[in-house]
Amino acid sequence: MKLRSLKKSFSLSRFQSSAPWMLQNKEIRRLRAENARYKAFLNTAPIGYFTLDGELRVVESNQAATEQLEVATDKLYLSLFPSYVNSADRVQLLQIFSDVATDEKGDAQTMRTTLVVQNRPVPVMLHISLASTSNKHRFHVAMVDHSEYQATRDNLRIARDGLQHIANHDPLTRLANRWGFIDQLQLAINESTNGDVALLLLDLDHFKQINDPLGHQVGDDLLREVAKRLSSSVSKADTVGRLGGDEFGIILSNIKQLSAVNKTIEKIRASLADQYESTPHDIRLSASIGVSLAPTDTNNAKQLLSYADAAMNDAKLRGRNCNQFYTPALNTTLIERFQMERELNIAWRDSQFELHYQPQYDLRSRSINGYEVLLRWNHPQHGLIGPASFIQVVEDTGLIEPLGEWILKTACKKLVELRNTNKEMIFSINVSAKQFIKGDLQDKITKILASTGLPANAIELELTESALLENFDQSLTILDELREAGVSLAIDDFGTGYSSFSRLQKLPVSRVKIDRCFVHDIPENQSNCAIVKAIISVAHDLGIEVVAEGVETPKHARYLNTVGCDVLQGYYIGRPSVISLSNNTRNIQTDEKEKAIA
Ligand code: C2E
Ligand code: CA
Ligand code: CA
Repeated sequence: MKLRSLKKSFSLSRFQSSAPWMLQNKEIRRLRAENARYKAFLNTAPIGYFTLDGELRVVESNQAATEQLEVATDKLYLSLFPSYVNSADRVQLLQIFSDVATDEKGDAQTMRTTLVVQNRPVPVMLHISLASTSNKHRFHVAMVDHSEYQATRDNLRIARDGLQHIANHDPLTRLANRWGFIDQLQLAINESTNGDVALLLLDLDHFKQINDPLGHQVGDDLLREVAKRLSSSVSKADTVGRLGGDEFGIILSNIKQLSAVNKTIEKIRASLADQYESTPHDIRLSASIGVSLAPTDTNNAKQLLSYADAAMNDAKLRGRNCNQFYTPALNTTLIERFQMERELNIAWRDSQFELHYQPQYDLRSRSINGYEVLLRWNHPQHGLIGPASFIQVVEDTGLIEPLGEWILKTACKKLVELRNTNKEMIFSINVSAKQFIKGDLQDKITKILASTGLPANAIELELTESALLENFDQSLTILDELREAGVSLAIDDFGTGYSSFSRLQKLPVSRVKIDRCFVHDIPENQSNCAIVKAIISVAHDLGIEVVAEGVETPKHARYLNTVGCDVLQGYYIGRPSVISLSNNTRNIQTDEKEKAIA
């Protein structure tokens, strides 16, 4: 019994004493299970894991590792890990293993390298650490494939380079755009050691008038062709850019003499003027070219560009198809111009414009039955300013549109008042080329006439020869329409342009105005007398009336009367002024003048 109980107690005690042993077993099972899970995790991880022995041989690896190296597990086992890394990086790799092994804290290290897999480079990132701090001869290596990262980086670089290219180039012509061009200009200036850098800024003359009727496809082809011609007119080392619309820039380096710039410009002009195969019409292009020089004018690319721009604008004002080199004087006119633009906008806002009227004396009826409407700017500081000094700026800025309409409306209202006392009264109104070419002039005039109740023949439009010639065929159509609407037309400043008498024949005009440059020295100047007589004779043959401008003396008036001129206008007849309604159109002064002429 005692024994049994002893056995029992033994077995019990054994049971009791075996409890920690049983727990140990459980712990081992748990650890084994954990280890298995860890291995499964390692095997399915998308990162290559290796355990290396002290000789850097692979003693353990996961699935990803064999896939990355494209080597079967059994082949991988005990193979030398550094043998998979490209030979150039091996010394560095061995150094890292040595550093890791000797590092007191056992910190991990990383290294970027390239594997050689089946003769193919595979960029990887290695993460190397000791397997345990107590065993300095076992390493863990994690290996991350960097090909995708690399590809992304490469793509980013390509994208960045591409964006840079897009940002600096014009997609139509593939030339540098304004920004790319300025960069290259600054570079050329900085690098120039052998002579000047010449900047040519080139604006195609009348491109808009060519482009609009042809359609944009033809316009684009034309611009591409221009880009090609410009590029082949300069040397390979020079740069051509498209700075906007029909504006191109050219950088010429190593310029030692201005004659070299002029030679290139001649070449450019000749190539632009050649026939264009891509267009259905025979188009010949010309350009206004501004030139500035670095370092002579400035060393700053943007400044140099603004100087060339000032020179180009001057070339345009001087009648296009010509070159202008920058001079500091141009810059002051540019500043004055900006100032004027600003002031003109204020003038328009503050109603500083007014109209003056200059009488026209009809030699047949011996009376004043017309006035020319002349614009004045009543400047708060400078007083009355004539249009000669500002009309070009008004046209260039587009202010001519609203201002021109205001002139028409204001003049017509005034004419309604005057016609209460003289039903025959006619106003001649100046129209600029811009207003005329725009094509909606007839509509505007018809509306104004309708709202004021004036008949169409109460007004006459004055157009200069040059405005008509700027686009002769288009002018003809517009003139015909205006004429059909009943509006009379006059050619202003006749004789100063190039319109021949044969062209005069084609134009539906009722009057020509002989420019005052032919009048000021008659009857002394024989050739001017001959011109005046010829104009009167031909005009009369065509049924066109003649007005003489700039009649300043009784001598002028008498001579013009004897050669059969129809109407006189000038300071002798009357200066432009504000007409007040109390003024009688046949005043005492006029009666005196009649006697003088007769
Ligand atoms: P224009 O059409 O030839 O006008 C005649 C110019 O000669 C006027 O100058 C007038 O004041 C001036 N004049 C008149 N009689 C004499 C004279 O006996 N001797 C001299 N030396 N000059 C005389 P203004 O008013 O300064 O106008 C200059 C030009 O500005 C005009 O030349 C015309 O082309 C333009 N203009 C004037 N008013 C307008 C307008 O309302 N619209 C537009 N678009 N242009 C205008
Ligand atoms: Ca005029
Ligand atoms: Ca005139």
